[in-house]
Amino acid sequence: MTRYKDPFEKQPSGTYDVVVVGGGAAGLSAALVLGRSRLRTLVVDAGEPRNAPSDHMQGYLTRDGMPPAEFLALGRKEIARYGVELVRDRAVDATRGVDTPRSDDGTRGDDAARGAGVATGEDFAVALAGGRTVHARRLIVTTGLRDELPAVPGVAERYGRDVLHCPFCHGWEVRDERFGVLATSALSVHQALMVSHWSDDVTLFLDTVAEDELSDEDLRRLAAARVKVVPGAVAGLRVEDDRLTGVRLADGTVHDRSVVFVAPRAVPQTGLMERLGAELRETPFGAYPVVDPTGLTTVPGVWTAGNAMGFAEQVVHAASGGYRAASAVVGDLIMSRLDAAVAG
Ligand SMILES: Cc1cc2nc3c(=O)[nH]c(=O)nc-3n(C[C@H](O)[C@H](O)[C@H](O)COP(=O)(O)OP(=O)(O)OC[C@H]3O[C@@H](n4cnc5c(N)ncnc54)[C@H](O)[C@@H]3O)c2cc1C
Repeated sequence: MTRYKDPFEKQPSGTYDVVVVGGGAAGLSAALVLGRSRLRTLVVDAGEPRNAPSDHMQGYLTRDGMPPAEFLALGRKEIARYGVELVRDRAVDATRGVDTPRSDDGTRGDDAARGAGVATGEDFAVALAGGRTVHARRLIVTTGLRDELPAVPGVAERYGRDVLHCPFCHGWEVRDERFGVLATSALSVHQALMVSHWSDDVTLFLDTVAEDELSDEDLRRLAAARVKVVPGAVAGLRVEDDRLTGVRLADGTVHDRSVVFVAPRAVPQTGLMERLGAELRETPFGAYPVVDPTGLTTVPGVWTAGNAMGFAEQVVHAASGGYRAASAVVGDLIMSRLDAAVAG
């Protein structure tokens, strides 16, 4: 049963059992589990999911092809059934305290009437851009990552349409077309080799990558995959009738291509976790929090899931990670409550 029509009309106040920062697949999935576990939960979401440039979402069983916005709208509806609150805002800071403050009306988030609420002595304060500060006993940070695209004219404008990054997300839809791969580093060789599975006509444009950055193994594999390698700076894309038709080099040459794959630089949105002191680990795709198998960061009480935790998390992984983190949080809160009861 839906408790309110538009969850974004709700304004947050007081103390929550859990604040989930980020309302993409990971955050909403976590919120669903938390709501069903009778925890007072707030989702703070800035509303800019990573796959927003794409009008379809693939590879999520039973949701294959669904528009990402529709998927998230359904998720918001589902969590509203369990009384989870959502607010369209951006968390700008998070700090960890020791006391659980009371909410505006003087009640505590672990009000016995709500069931599994607990007093653990832990408290996180999350400051929102809108000016409010909300408190929670546990945090799940699912803030995703930002894709930083190369500054080649046309690339940002066409991203998610015919400039693509992921063959699993889009490969089927563009199979057998004329692919270009715009190199952003020597790692783009891997992308060219991968996408060559979806088309026999692949050209790797080296752009800023020097030919001698490619290893002998790279060259052997590119040859085996029949990927053509074109050195030289890329000046832009040729677009006709709102369709990509070619890649233009700085020397004026144009190569006919109908799709361009590019690997954006991933910028994980880990600021809040860093602010709380979470340890990060470097990867070739950015620095991500060190986590246990449930997504618990090195900061007790702070979990993460989805693209904020790892570059390769697709929607189905993000949803699964949100579920996993939320169930660990529920267990943690229940055990903390019991331990507090035992301690008297
Ligand atoms: C063009 C494109 C197409 C894609 N297609 C597919 C596909 O077909 N299939 C697939 O499985 N995957 C696809 N992906 C990958 C998919 O986008 C991610 O797997 C998925 O978005 C990860 O979910 P998430 O919840 O971790 O992050 P997101 O979906 O990015 O959600 C994070 C949310 O947190 C919010 N947020 C960030 N910081 C804050 C803050 N400080 N305070 C409050 N809110 C904040 C953001 O605004 C956003 O709403 C695609 C990606 C791109 C770029």
